[in-house]
Amino acid sequence: MSILSHSVAGYLDHASWIRRMFEAGGQLKARYGADNVYDFSLGNPDLPAPSAVAHGLRAFAAHAGEPFAFGYMPNGGFAWAREKLAAHLSKEQGVPLKADQVILGCGAAGVLNAFLRAVIDPGEEMLAFAPYFVEYGFYVANHGGSLRAVMSHKDDFRPDLAALEAAIGPKTRVVLINSPNNPTGVIYSREDLTALAELLENKSQEYGRPIWLVADEPYRFLAYDGVEVPSVLPLYPYAVVVSSFSKCLSLPGERVGYAAVSPRLPEAEELMAGLTLTNRILGFVNPPVVGQHLMAAALDSQVDLAVYAARRKAMAQVLTEAGYDFLMPAGAFYFFPKAPGGDDVAFVNALVEERVLAVPGSGFGCPGYFRLAFCVDEGVIRNAAEGFARALARIG
Ligand code: PLP
Repeated sequence: MSILSHSVAGYLDHASWIRRMFEAGGQLKARYGADNVYDFSLGNPDLPAPSAVAHGLRAFAAHAGEPFAFGYMPNGGFAWAREKLAAHLSKEQGVPLKADQVILGCGAAGVLNAFLRAVIDPGEEMLAFAPYFVEYGFYVANHGGSLRAVMSHKDDFRPDLAALEAAIGPKTRVVLINSPNNPTGVIYSREDLTALAELLENKSQEYGRPIWLVADEPYRFLAYDGVEVPSVLPLYPYAVVVSSFSKCLSLPGERVGYAAVSPRLPEAEELMAGLTLTNRILGFVNPPVVGQHLMAAALDSQVDLAVYAARRKAMAQVLTEAGYDFLMPAGAFYFFPKAPGGDDVAFVNALVEERVLAVPGSGFGCPGYFRLAFCVDEGVIRNAAEGFARALARIG
């Protein structure tokens, strides 16, 4: 019998695909050498943080010997950091935001957990479009709720609003969207978001309680060819943006994330009080000191987008030449091609034979596809070309 809770023992028995690929990758790298393994399994940004981050770190270090330099602070972050973030997000989101409409936490993941703890009662549901970032299911289950996946339109991975409407019921407390999307790279259009906001207005009225719209957008900065990433904050009073500096500043290990609410939210003060408390009682306590200093120093910077854009082109060329069926990602750093032969797990295993690591779509609630993360050097993409071609020739 396990010493762990039933749920955690169960999770461990069904280790995530990303974790399985990570382990398979470790074995392959030990056997063939890291240079001979083409690892597209992890979304760990490999670009260096912009130079403003190192400057911020040095400036902070000059004061690191002072009392309380690393002390506790208000649970939602330093007041000055919230001011700066609010000014930055006002520009980015196109709505006027004050410091008390934003809150800092421990990465988008920590803030999502704080939010769900604040609004979900046991037995309630969060809806998200599949394919989706697999952690969402764990986050909502942490707070006694459950994730209900609604399949996106299969031809273009746009949100299927009719399917969403059919899935919303009295237990629906949150609808979560992720645009630019992990794993598809799709960016939701203004028309789709406006229609989604309208649907949620109507459904909230029908059930007599607001349904939250959470936009998880750590890839907002990464939109190619000038495609617009519309903000949900002006569209719906119960909209909340959750994001972080993990990708735009390549700071995922430093855990700086935040939530920003619509300026039209009538109960903003109550929600912020809730988030301040849940940030504390979930054990995050407060966002990291150093991370907030780095954020403030680098708010006007971002990693070099041109590098991601060049890799996207290179990957598209490799996949096209090999004969894969895929949509060009409009944003983020993933491709989500169709699995040749239809069985995503079998195909990802065929790629492993070629020392190419990918993640089956099943890991994102969408069998029949596989995900490739291009947070790798362009050379890795080009060197994997033969492996991609051989795997497809064998299975496709
Ligand atoms: N949401 C999505 C869609 C992600 O891909 C990730 C990380 O990969 C996160 C949230 C979590 O990001 P953070 O490092 O800010 O917790």
